[in-house]
Amino acid sequence: MNAPVDVRSLEVRIEGGRRLVGPLDLRLEPGRVHAIVGESGSGKTLTLRALAGVVPEGLSAGWNDATVPEAMPPGAVHADGGGDGRAAATPAPTESPRSEIPRTAMVFQDPASFFNPRWRVERSLREVLRYARGLRRSAVPQRIATLASQVGLSLEEFRRYPFELSGGMVQRAAIAMALAPEPTVLLADEITSALDPERAERILEMLHGIAVAQRIAVVLVSHDLPLVARVSDDVRVLYRGVVVEKGAPAAVLSRPMHRYTDLLVRALPSQAQRGRALPEIDPAPSEEVGAGCPFLGRCPAASAACSVMPAWDDTDRVRCHHPVPGGPDDG
Ligand code: SF4
Repeated sequence: MNAPVDVRSLEVRIEGGRRLVGPLDLRLEPGRVHAIVGESGSGKTLTLRALAGVVPEGLSAGWNDATVPEAMPPGAVHADGGGDGRAAATPAPTESPRSEIPRTAMVFQDPASFFNPRWRVERSLREVLRYARGLRRSAVPQRIATLASQVGLSLEEFRRYPFELSGGMVQRAAIAMALAPEPTVLLADEITSALDPERAERILEMLHGIAVAQRIAVVLVSHDLPLVARVSDDVRVLYRGVVVEKGAPAAVLSRPMHRYTDLLVRALPSQAQRGRALPEIDPAPSEEVGAGCPFLGRCPAASAACSVMPAWDDTDRVRCHHPVPGGPDDG
């Protein structure tokens, strides 16, 4: 039975320098899809890489696991660097004092990077099953058949080369690769951004079904709030490395409370907005986030109070000194 992983105070820093992400808390629960949304540069991918222990060279990351008695000091996990997109199915680094390290697998935006282009998909899977999972040779065919059925591909499709598969099929095959070592935590980084909306939704629905059936915790990173709202159990809005709002996806999408989330939602094209100009959000400032709210330099509702970082509200939904009126607290 997979246990929840309580990530506390996750941080990513430039080595010896400023903080890019965090401190961030996340409870990863088996059978649930946890979404993290935000614009480019918000720190979504760095967060996933920190969880997998594979942050790019020049950065350091760390987090504490609240489910073990002895906590790991932030910064104890260091990058293996490279960012070559081949970090799937790597366990978290072993500096952690956790008694049982969660098996972590990662699926990337570019699924082709999972595969040796000169090997058929089935051979890549065989290698992972034999050498990463240590499966007996005789058990491999059955496991491959199970993986094919889980990701909705046929054995014949597994016998093709990656370049012979469509974009959606390669992404399904990449998910099979990530599932092969039976991870307890699956990290998915913008895995549908190259797909059309219908295919993207089908793949994310499939991932949700796998999370429930296999009792895997999935962390899904995306810039597409409406899409993840349909397939996730909870969502966190990340802005410049800080979670500013969190909650049930439908609630965050229909009644955003943080000023940044509100602008994001109002900037979504819709039938109702047809013919009208969408609201603009000023570009993110390049300087380091100060002691106050990270949205301070762009926020239309900012006041002097915002130079102090807001705490979470009573319902643990939003951190904002002047939340959007009409939220749960306003009755
Ligand atoms: S805390 Fe202040 S600056 Fe930040 S989003 Fe709320 S109103 Fe805007």
